[in-house]
Amino acid sequence: MPLTQDHVTSALTTVLDPDLGKDLVTLGMVKKIDIDGNAITVGIELTTPACPMKDRIQADIETAVLREATNVGDAAPEIHVEFSARVRAAANTDQPSPLPGVKHVIAVGAGKGGVGKSTVSTVLATGLTKLGASVGLLDGDIYGPSLATMLGLDDMQPTARGDILDPFEVDGLKCMSIAKLVDPEKAMIWRGPMAHKAFSQLVLQTNWGELDYLIIDLPPGTGDVPLSLAQLLPLTGSVVVCTPQRVALEDARRAVRMFQQLDVRVLGTVENMSWFVGNDGVEYDLFGRGGTEKMAEAMQIPFLGAIPIHIKMREHADDGTPLLNFQIEDELTETLLSTCSELARQVSIATELDEGSRPTLTIS
Ligand code: ADP
Repeated sequence: MPLTQDHVTSALTTVLDPDLGKDLVTLGMVKKIDIDGNAITVGIELTTPACPMKDRIQADIETAVLREATNVGDAAPEIHVEFSARVRAAANTDQPSPLPGVKHVIAVGAGKGGVGKSTVSTVLATGLTKLGASVGLLDGDIYGPSLATMLGLDDMQPTARGDILDPFEVDGLKCMSIAKLVDPEKAMIWRGPMAHKAFSQLVLQTNWGELDYLIIDLPPGTGDVPLSLAQLLPLTGSVVVCTPQRVALEDARRAVRMFQQLDVRVLGTVENMSWFVGNDGVEYDLFGRGGTEKMAEAMQIPFLGAIPIHIKMREHADDGTPLLNFQIEDELTETLLSTCSELARQVSIATELDEGSRPTLTIS
């Protein structure tokens, strides 16, 4: 008997999304099943363009459809899987978001300054853009904004419509920094309420439009701004950046605890300056590579990836050419993109978990 749409659908109910733990049909990911003679095309809508599970899902679909063909006594079909992606919005929280076009707000924090929080925020935002998502990056480090330089905004002038600022655009990434609005030479000594006001205006009075992910680079430490942010917007979660030496990890642990106390999910940690490759080609574990992963394991939070120190990454930050970080060398590109995919993956998992935990009302 030849395979029908029902047979293929039934086969796809046996294929689980490896992260979400449910089958593709239940998750609403099957968008198309075309049968043309011996050729079967299945259209799958992933929950993020940065999905690291694509290859596995494709292999599982092929196995399931071939098994179904054998069961019904059909010849082995030629199977094509076409992937598309739509980031699903975070489940509605009790309070409506003041940024309804933004599907996920992700805060990037660190226990202390200088560990590479802004560098990692830039890598995450540019990497997710490169992988096909629509992304915004806000420099929320109002005390020491460095993203304007890192993103190459120094010579650009801000524009606004009424009270609403237009974000800057860098290779498809929308971004905004307080350094473009106040005199960057003046130390920004904001007191608590002023810091809250400046930060709120920056987030809410920027015309972000429709975004899959808005990444917010927070000031280091556990000060007022994370609290303001948690009160201002429903956050999908946070990322904690740290370097691996013991003294830095203690600060990172405090940052994780702070987010947890604010009821903000920690989507994962990133180890920056994990190792360094010398001119001799030897890898030096300057700060004790692997410390962050161990900390993440002990605190039962995800580990997103480890980024080495690379002299070119510092140069690209100073020159404001963040996309060039993905062209240094293949292995580093892979490391950076996999850290971005891992974050997107954790966002998809968090969305599905929240969706599943939402109370439902059954009226009979
Ligand atoms: P933070 O936001 O935590 O204060 P930054 O991202 O501003 O830290 O980084 C501090 C300095 O270290 C910057 O000059 C930056 O270019 C450099 N830096 C950060 N991470 C790396 C890296 N992985 N490789 C090379 N330089 C880095």
